[in-house]
Formats: sequence, C-alpha cells, structure tokens
Amino acid sequence: STPDLPKVQTAIKYNENGPPSVLHLSTTEPVPTPSPHQVLIKNTFAGLNYIDTYFRTGLYPTPSFPFIPGKEAEGHIISVGSSVPASYNLSPGDRVVYTTANGTYAQYTAADALHVYKVPAGIPEGHAAATLLQGLTAITLVRESADVKKGDWVLIHAAAGGVGVWLVQYLSQKVDARVIATASTQKKLDLAKSLGAEVVVNYVSDDYIKTVKAVTNGAGVRVVLDSVGAKTFDGALEVVARKGTVVSFGNSSGKVPPVEIARLAPKNVKLLRPQLFAYIATREEFETYADELFKWVLEGSVKVFIHKVYPIEEAELSHVDIESRGTVGKLLVKIPQ
Ligand code: NDP
Repeated sequence: STPDLPKVQTAIKYNENGPPSVLHLSTTEPVPTPSPHQVLIKNTFAGLNYIDTYFRTGLYPTPSFPFIPGKEAEGHIISVGSSVPASYNLSPGDRVVYTTANGTYAQYTAADALHVYKVPAGIPEGHAAATLLQGLTAITLVRESADVKKGDWVLIHAAAGGVGVWLVQYLSQKVDARVIATASTQKKLDLAKSLGAEVVVNYVSDDYIKTVKAVTNGAGVRVVLDSVGAKTFDGALEVVARKGTVVSFGNSSGKVPPVEIARLAPKNVKLLRPQLFAYIATREEFETYADELFKWVLEGSVKVFIHKVYPIEEAELSHVDIESRGTVGKLLVKIPQ
C-alpha cells in the first residue's frame, strides 16, 4: 500500500444514461485498488473522446452504474502492479499517458499496464492526452485498415474533429495522399485546408457526393474514412472507387443500420468496421505506433490541436460542446490535484 494515498477522490460519474446533465461531480468516490497487471495513476488531464458520449447516452451499453467515464488521460504513476513486465519500463513517478476501458474523469485510475506509455520529455502538459487515442486511431486506420499509398484519393469526414485533424495531417503531409475533407463549418474547412487537404467541402450545406465525383473525374476515391456513420454510409458506397475501401469507424450521427453485403458487389468494395483496441492488442503494436506518433509530435511535423481545457466542474459542458459540432481538435478535462 502507498502511504499518503487518500481513500476517496473527486470524479465525474453518472447513475443513468441520458443527456450531458446526467454527469455529476462527486468528491467521495473510492480510490481504485489496482490488480497485479495494472498501474495506479494520478491523473492531470483526461482526454475527451466521442465514444464517451456513446456510453453516456447508452448507444454503447454502460458496463455498470455508477459509471466514471473516460478512456484516456495523462498523469503520474503512483504504483506498479507485481505482474507488470519489466520490459514495459514503468516506474512510480513516471509521467505517462494511457488508454483504458473507462474511469479517467477522476483523480486516480487503475489502468492495464499494457496501454500505459511513458511520455517522452518535451511534450507539453495536456498534449499527451490530446495525442494518444485519436492519433493512434489515425495511424492504425491509415496503415492497417486502408493501407493508403502516395497519390491515393481519400475522403475524410469530420476532418476538423479530434481524429480528423490527425488523419488530414498524416495523410496529406506524410503519406502524400490526395485528401478531400468534409466538415460542417467554413472555419473547420479552412483548418483542414491549412493542414494539407487538397479539396474541402461543407457536407451540410453542399453536395459533397457531386464534388467527390467531379474532383476524381467520376472514378471516386480509393478510400473513405467515415466516422459520421448513419448519415454518410450510403454516400460512402456511392463515392468509393471500384476496388476501393470504405472504413466505417464511428457513429457521430448514429449507428449504421445492418448492411446487405451484396451492395459491395458492383464495385468490388472492401468494407471495414474497425476499432482501435483490436489494432493495439499487443504491447509491441501499442508501443510501435505510440513511438511513431510521439516522434512526430516532438519534431513538430504533426501539430496538436486543443479546442479547450474544461475544469472538471464543467465536464457536462464539454459533452454539450462536442455533441454540438462546434469543436475543433481535442477537448481536455483538467483534473484537480
Ligand atoms: P470529434 O472531435 O471528431 O467530434 C465528432 C465530430 O463529428 C463533430 O465535430 C462533427 O464534425 C461530426 N459530426 C457529424 N455529424 C454529427 C452529429 N450528428 N452530431 C455530432 N457530431 C457530428 O470526435 P472524436 O475525434 O473523438 O471521434 C471522431 C469519430 O471517430 C467518432 O465517430 C468516434 O466514435 C470515432 N472513433 C472511432 C474509433 C475506433 O476505434 N473505431 C476511435 C476513435 C474515434 P462536423 O461539425 O465537421 O460535422
């Protein structure tokens, strides 16, 4: 046991699914007890991800109530479990960033060591939590789901969102793909353009399907990266090129209804519905991608975009904001020390 560890902590929790107002601040949550394969972390910033809203609304089933949301944070290690491999190189006091099943809108989290990463020196406060989950999502989608190559046309929806800014930067600047980016406002489109998108189109006010067809001379894009889901799935099948790939990786507008697989036949389309965790299931996969990601951030070749840092008392507002489509890049929750 750790000598000056408190018994209770401050955290955001909810007891039922519903709108952002179900999120409540509690100052009497038990500090979790880590199991041997876990590390106990004292958090400084929790990273918000759109998936936090799926659990809150019940789109994804909440494991149990009361529930402390959050799949990502940065902070410092308090203790390391006895069966954590030495090769993970994790020690008390280390500054780390991690992704976990849940429970990061809190002062303390017990997280599986496999997905805990030591933050390289030189990464500013908050930037590690603003990088890990969404950056890993972008790298793995591009490499593993779609294997995008130089010169490929790629359509990216919600291009100024958390994952979107990573995808646009990585694909246009490092892979040298030709990016068509969609977003709901001019400000977001301007950002996507500044990050390297060749073509930008407002998919709320304009006909993006027509634009994609015109830009690609009717051939369509080799890859569609679609996190919007229900609203854009049919369009993805329409604008993907023959032998192209549709990567459906999110539900921000609602779940994609069941798909008749024969719809893939006319153009021999590949369809994937990937999730990050199945690409980083081993320590080697996780470290390889995280090393690459943080190398880019350190050298400044890929930029971190932070929309806003919310004090923990304003966690409710952070959910209102991300769902209102007004945010650009990452939302963070500051954890009281
Ligand atoms: P974002 O910061 O991208 O926020 C979601 C964005 O979705 C909004 O900014 C908005 O952009 C767009 N959007 C489109 N339609 C709607 C709608 N009806 N309501 C709200 N937003 C809408 O979130 P994240 O970066 O955290 O996640 C992006 C997506 O990627 C999510 O769908 C998420 O579930 C998915 N994801 C999937 C992972 C996986 O492993 N499969 C891992 C990580 C993320 P605009 O205003 O431009 O339309």
